[in-house]
Amino acid sequence: MSSQYVPLTAEQAAKHRTRVTLLGTAGGPPWWDGSDRSGISTAITVNDSVYLIDCGEGWGPQFRKSGLGPAGFQKGLDNMRAVFITHHHSDHMVDYPNLLLLAWHNGSDGLQRPIKVIGPGDRGTLPPIFAEEKREHLPEVFNPDSPTPGLVESTERLLQAYALDINDRMRDNAKQDLREIFEFEDIQLPADTGRDPNGDPTPAMEPFEIYRDENVRVSAILVDHRPVFPAFAFRFDTPDGSIVISGDTGVCRNLVRISEGADILLHECIDMDWVDGLMGPDSPKPDPNLMQHMLAAHTAIEQVGPQAEAAGVKTLVLTHLVPGNTPVEKWEKAQVGFSGNLVVGEDLMHFGLGAAANS
Ligand SMILES: [Zn+2]
Repeated sequence: MSSQYVPLTAEQAAKHRTRVTLLGTAGGPPWWDGSDRSGISTAITVNDSVYLIDCGEGWGPQFRKSGLGPAGFQKGLDNMRAVFITHHHSDHMVDYPNLLLLAWHNGSDGLQRPIKVIGPGDRGTLPPIFAEEKREHLPEVFNPDSPTPGLVESTERLLQAYALDINDRMRDNAKQDLREIFEFEDIQLPADTGRDPNGDPTPAMEPFEIYRDENVRVSAILVDHRPVFPAFAFRFDTPDGSIVISGDTGVCRNLVRISEGADILLHECIDMDWVDGLMGPDSPKPDPNLMQHMLAAHTAIEQVGPQAEAAGVKTLVLTHLVPGNTPVEKWEKAQVGFSGNLVVGEDLMHFGLGAAANS
C-alpha cells in the first residue's frame, strides 16, 4: 500500500524536512458569500527554505498565520527562496504587489541572496473575442502597446506605479535597493514546443526544468486554461517526494504527464452546479457556449478523480475551489474514479513528506 498523506498541524508538519502548506484555497475573483477561504496560494518548505506558489488575495496574512512567516522580524521572507506564478489571472496575482513592496519590512532586510520570481512570459498575441458574433459592442484593446505582458514586464510596470514609495524607503529609511531583493524571470518554453496560444494551448510535451537549488528541482508543463496562455502546472521534486500543483486547467494529458507518480497532487476544482445556476438551461441567462468554455478551462468534481488515477497519484488534495462556498461533502465526490487518498483542502492545512524527525 502506498503511503498516504493526511493533514497535520503546523507543529507536526515542522518535523518533516519537506512540507506543504495551503495558504489559501479559494479560486476565482469573487468574494464568496459565507466562505472565509483566502485566495489561492500555496507554500512548500524544504529544510528552512520557503517556496511560494501564486499570490492570491490574503496570502501574506495567511503566511504569517501559517507559522512560516515573519516572527519578530527575525525570520520570514528572508527564508523565501523563490516564488512561482502559474498564470496571470488576477485571483493568482492580486496580492503580488504585497510581496514586492512589503518584503523589506517583513524580514527580507539584508537578504543573503535575491528571491527569484518566476512566471509565464508574454502571450504574444491577443485571444479572440469570445462569441464575437453575438456582441453588440466589441471591446477596445487595453494597453495596445503591450496587451499581453509576461511576468518581467508586468513587474516592471507595477514597480513603476509604486516609484514614490520605493524611492522614499531607499532614501529616507535607508532600505536595501529593491532591485537587489528580487530577481524576475519569464519562463521560456523549450524551443521544440509547438507554441499555439489561439489553437491547441497544450501541445504534447515533457515537463521541463525551470528552477533548481540544493533543496528542490521544479519543472513545468503547459496546461489547458484557455484562452489564458501560457498557463502552467508545476512539479516540485525534493529528496522526500514530489508535489504537483495543477494551476488552473481543464482535463488535459499534460497535467497527467507531469503528475505521474506524484506523492501529492494539489488540483483545482469547479462545482459545475454553480456554473449551471449562472448560465445553465434553467438559469436567467442560459448560455451553453459559455458553459462549455468554462468547462474547457477548469476541472469538474467528477473529472478530477480520473485525472489523478491516470497519473497514479497517491494523495489528491483539492484546492482552488470554485465557488469557495460549496460544502465539503460535495467536493468529496471527487473520490469517484480515484483509488488513492482524497483530501478537500482547507486554509492552513499542512502536509509533511518523508520521515518525521523524532525530537
Ligand atoms: Zn485562472
